[in-house]
Amino acid sequence: MNDAAGGQPLLQVRGVRKSYRSGGGTLEVLRGVDFEVEPGGFVAIVGQSGSGKSTLLHLMGLLDAPDSGEVHLGGQRIDSLSATRRDRIRNTEIGMVFQAYHLLPELDALENVLAPLFVRYSVGQWLRQRGDARRAARELLERFGLGGRLHHKPRQLSGGEMQRVAIARALVARPRVLLADEPTGNLDEASGSGILDTLCELNREDGLSIVLVTHDTSIARRADRIVRLAAGRVEIA
Ligand code: ADP
Ligand code: MG
Repeated sequence: MNDAAGGQPLLQVRGVRKSYRSGGGTLEVLRGVDFEVEPGGFVAIVGQSGSGKSTLLHLMGLLDAPDSGEVHLGGQRIDSLSATRRDRIRNTEIGMVFQAYHLLPELDALENVLAPLFVRYSVGQWLRQRGDARRAARELLERFGLGGRLHHKPRQLSGGEMQRVAIARALVARPRVLLADEPTGNLDEASGSGILDTLCELNREDGLSIVLVTHDTSIARRADRIVRLAAGRVEIA
């Protein structure tokens, strides 16, 4: 969680456009979006269902490419890099969390958190790093109140616990920014509020930069800044 140099935005989206082909026509979802997150910032993106929030977050997380426009991380343009370098950035510098937790059902909580590191390291590197990696994963799970659940499989965990495992997995490689797409969308109010407490704590105490997408303005108020997506553009809420 390495901060960018003074004054420079950590994450920046410039003039991003994205359309989808649907039926016979074209659906213009993003029509020139400009948006930035400062180092240590906590920004919520709100907008109605279908307004393009997930599309925008996926572009920032390099899960998809804009039709035009640019995405920069720490002053470097990242959307136009080679597939290998984009994979590397996605695996090391950007953490993502989704409404559905996407945990691997056969792995326990600790193994799920470690999964991104299996991908990141060669076998030799993994053998050298695994003690430190397991310690880091265990510490994250303990911090999130899951010290007693390290060897539980996802089906043995509650929704809130599964989302905490997913957040720990997103953070294990120490990314520069966490992108969260409706992370409380499948949770009851109390579990959802616990997840938001965790995100606020990571932002305040660790200086983690966060982008939180939600259709719920009461959730968005937990962020320092709210932007609204409407008609394919960003407006300050
Ligand atoms: P939100 O997250 O704000 O609900 P999305 O970004 O998921 O909105 O979707 C924006 C619009 O784009 C929606 O109308 C959706 O149906 C459409 N859309 C999203 N992904 C695709 C896709 N892969 N192909 C075609 N249309 C899509
Ligand atoms: Mg969405």
